[in-house]
Amino acid sequence: MDLSAVPLVYNGVMFRSTLEADWAATLDALGVYWQYEPIALRLPSGAVYVPDFYLPALNAWAEVKGPHWERLAKPVELRATLAVAGGAGWWEQVHVVVLEAPGPGDAASWHVPVGSCWLVECGERQNRFAWDDGRCWACQREDLGGSHYFYRPARAPAAGPTWRMTRAPRPEPLRRAA
Ligand SMILES: [Zn+2]
Repeated sequence: MDLSAVPLVYNGVMFRSTLEADWAATLDALGVYWQYEPIALRLPSGAVYVPDFYLPALNAWAEVKGPHWERLAKPVELRATLAVAGGAGWWEQVHVVVLEAPGPGDAASWHVPVGSCWLVECGERQNRFAWDDGRCWACQREDLGGSHYFYRPARAPAAGPTWRMTRAPRPEPLRRAA
C-alpha cells in the first residue's frame, strides 16, 4: 500500500502533511511561537536532518510523526547530540519532542526520546505552556509548587487531563474527501 501525506497550507505556510498543519494550529492555540523547518542540520552520523519545528521560546525542536512512529533515528540522535553534560543548568537542556497523531477525542499526544514529558501550563508566568519532565521551564521552578497545571500525552498510561488539538482549516476538496 502506498500512502502519501497530503500537503496543507496553514497561516501562509505549506506543510507536508495535515498533521503538521494541525500541530502548527495547536501550537498557536497554546501561544507557542513556532518556526517550520527553519534549518537543515548535519548530525554527527553524517545524516542531514530538517526538524519540522523549532520553538525558540521553549528551547525545543519538534518532529511530527504519524501513528507508526517511523524514522525516529534522527530526532533521537539530535537529542543525544544536544544533551547538556552534567554540571550545566538544567534549563539549558534542549528539548526534542516527537509530536504524534491525536488520540481518542482529538487528544494531543507526543513523546520524548529520553524519559517522559507532560505539557505544563505555568500559572506563575501568565499561563505559558512548555513541555516538561517534572520541572517548569517557564518559571524555572524545580519543585513544581505554585500554580501549575498538567496535561498528559493521549497515549501515556497515566491518569490526568489531555489537551484537545486544534485542526488547521481544510480547503473544500479535502473536507469532502475526509
Ligand atoms: Zn512554572
